[in-house]
Amino acid sequence: MRVKCVICDSIEKLNDETLLAKRLRNRPIHTFMCETCHDRIKEKTNARIATGNFRLYRDKKSDDKW
Ligand SMILES: [Zn+2]
Repeated sequence: MRVKCVICDSIEKLNDETLLAKRLRNRPIHTFMCETCHDRIKEKTNARIATGNFRLYRDKKSDDKW
């Protein structure tokens, strides 16, 4: 089956036998993301988590100072 990436609108061919293809067929909602976009979002999420940890660490440090 052919699927469209919700982010960059690129069309990709999906093997009908894969779990993802079956899931998309059952619920044809905007859930497909191409690998490129998937990786990009994963990176962004990881970066945000890293930033969050960093801030948390700094807050904790300034708390210790008080
Ligand atoms: Zn994409």
